[in-house]
Amino acid sequence: MSRIASVLIPMPLPEAFDYAEPEGMALSAGDHVAVPLGPRLVRGVVVALRASLGGNRPLKPVAERLDDPALPPGTVEFVQWAARYAVDSPGQPLAIALRGARTPKPRPVRVASATGLMPARSTPARARVLEVLAKGPVAPAELARAAGVSSGVVKGLIDEGVLALVQIASEAAFDPPDLSLRGAALNASQSAAAAVLAGDAKAGGYNVALLDGVTGSGKTEVYLEAVAAALAANPDAQVLILLPEIALTQAVIARVSSRFGAQPGEWHSDVAPPARRRVFDAVAAGRCRIVVGARSALFLPFRKLTLIVVDEEHDTSYKQEEGFIYQARDLAVARARIEKAGVILASATPSLETLRNAEQGRYRWLKLTARHGGAVLPDIDLLDLRETPPEPGQWLSPPLRLAMAETWARGEQSLLFLNRRGYAPLVLCKACGERMTAPDTDSWLVEHRYSGRLVCHLTGFSMPKPTACPHCGTRDSLVSIGPGVERVEEEARELFPEARVAVFSSDTIFDAREARRMVESMAAGEIDILVATQAAAKGHNFPRLTLVGVVDADLGLRGGDLRAAERTYQLLAQATGRAGRRDLPGRALLQTYAPEHAVMQALKAQDRDAFVAAEMAEREMAGLPPFGRLAAVIASGPDGAQLEAFMRKMAEVAPNAPGVEVYGPADAPLGLIRGRRRKRFLVRADRTVDLSAYMAAWRARVRPPGAIRVAIDIDPYSFL
Ligand code: ADP
Repeated sequence: MSRIASVLIPMPLPEAFDYAEPEGMALSAGDHVAVPLGPRLVRGVVVALRASLGGNRPLKPVAERLDDPALPPGTVEFVQWAARYAVDSPGQPLAIALRGARTPKPRPVRVASATGLMPARSTPARARVLEVLAKGPVAPAELARAAGVSSGVVKGLIDEGVLALVQIASEAAFDPPDLSLRGAALNASQSAAAAVLAGDAKAGGYNVALLDGVTGSGKTEVYLEAVAAALAANPDAQVLILLPEIALTQAVIARVSSRFGAQPGEWHSDVAPPARRRVFDAVAAGRCRIVVGARSALFLPFRKLTLIVVDEEHDTSYKQEEGFIYQARDLAVARARIEKAGVILASATPSLETLRNAEQGRYRWLKLTARHGGAVLPDIDLLDLRETPPEPGQWLSPPLRLAMAETWARGEQSLLFLNRRGYAPLVLCKACGERMTAPDTDSWLVEHRYSGRLVCHLTGFSMPKPTACPHCGTRDSLVSIGPGVERVEEEARELFPEARVAVFSSDTIFDAREARRMVESMAAGEIDILVATQAAAKGHNFPRLTLVGVVDADLGLRGGDLRAAERTYQLLAQATGRAGRRDLPGRALLQTYAPEHAVMQALKAQDRDAFVAAEMAEREMAGLPPFGRLAAVIASGPDGAQLEAFMRKMAEVAPNAPGVEVYGPADAPLGLIRGRRRKRFLVRADRTVDLSAYMAAWRARVRPPGAIRVAIDIDPYSFL
């Protein structure tokens, strides 16, 4: 009986397409295939096979089965679930899942192996070569190095037929984790949490735990015990540790490596294609049992995923806002449900969504209340900038400068935190008042002194800083308004010419290796003052850091979006949590114009519960997440009138449903990006509503004109 293969293609197409299975191809679900699409052959993945009943128009046949490891059923199901949830084409998450398969396989390598022939003439050098080979084949150059002989010795043995060169596939050898190694001796509250998590891991099955502990309480030590238990429970078990930032991966990889005596698979956008391919193949084959990665690692083809750790679960970097829009923390829980795996959400400042789930008993709630080893949390003081303002043209107020001087005199380190890249967020002309903006986008150009350019952080557009105002032509009239990290660095250098000052932001640190070097040199005490954006505010341990100065604590509050207060609280709690560890007490100073604000008061009192309670009450009253659901529709097009007409049409056909309110259309706050006008709807729904289904039904009622793009954002984090 002939069969029909339903094939999902990693492109924004609405659904899987049917193809005929050629005689004898014997496809299975998950197989990679080449199929004709228009005039081309494209890659796809078989998601289902069914018997052909005949009679219909003949289908095009599958062209070829590709030699890539099949996607396991859990991965295929997850991809389809994610698409339905995000109201997007299943080809979009599939494209993420196939990133590893679409990079070419590393070329086979040539290795020397012993043929069994004895050398005609035996020398000590030749004996050493054979000794090294007794453990298995090795590349010739490596062989000579390991045996301590010249390459001529190896070549002589090959010529004699004692050694043969063979081609083997270049597979990454992921050493199996050594489960006989022990982690740190845990303190009482760490042990209690670890025992519960290890028990869950051993029992197996779907469950979610929140590991809620202040910075430095040893959450990483604790979840590594759960990882050990999960790996021990099943010889095939695989574990995924998700991190919000590439900059954090190196530190966690180092800790995993030393805990398990084996390097984990590393997965993020900075991993070079051949290495990416090796991780993909090894994960699919079950040879790689621990992966440490950024959000897209969630789409890897795990064969037996039994535990997912989401570290810094509150971090908004888990939300992917371009292309396929998803929240990796939420999808981690969904994937775990599909795989019948456990999830550990770790944070010092959990998201309100997660706290609500923990309060309601849907997640297990484990708390670590003290820093390890008696280290105390820093004292936090608010510096009211209305009372002690910085001098004009400066950004560090006198009390902060004094604290920095005291810290420097004691030979300790300071961290100045400002979540703003570049030198100045705005450049304007003092002659005509013109603000420098990008030519096709509603946003200010940010001045970068290191590169001498003005940069649009939204689109990447950049231009050299002009010497005359492009509007009125006046020379030398452009002035830099407000501070970015580069400007604070300049001030710190002027203030402490002897000190070693460094900047840590995504403009100065380009990849994971550089981030690691910077973190290591800070940890080693080679930097006195570090000026940093949030890239450095997370997760690192700096033993001699005793002062954290927050240059502009009000910055995050100005955005005015739903999570502004929550995010500010989390970011500043993280940043101030860097100060003081072990034997050195730390302090944190927050420069603010709004010391009376609930966020500032909660930070000063270090009373997270009070802040959370107040914030929860406000959200509940408004029916906002986590008490209700939100979704956004963002439409964009080159022609304002056409966009307006389309949005009116959309408003007319919005389905009526109880418990759903549609707001808009409205101009997006960023009304123009890359020459495209933008408009939005915001939808609020009760928790009982299946909002994805509602949005899918709405979208099906309109067909946007070709020039208009419509994106749906379930649970939006950005309201621009
Ligand atoms: P968190 O993830 O909660 O910020 P970490 O696990 O990174 O905390 O722990 C903070 C620091 O304290 C790390 O340097 C860690 O090695 C150390 N530490 C935590 N618990 C222990 C322990 N039980 N024994 C020894 N060192 C510990």
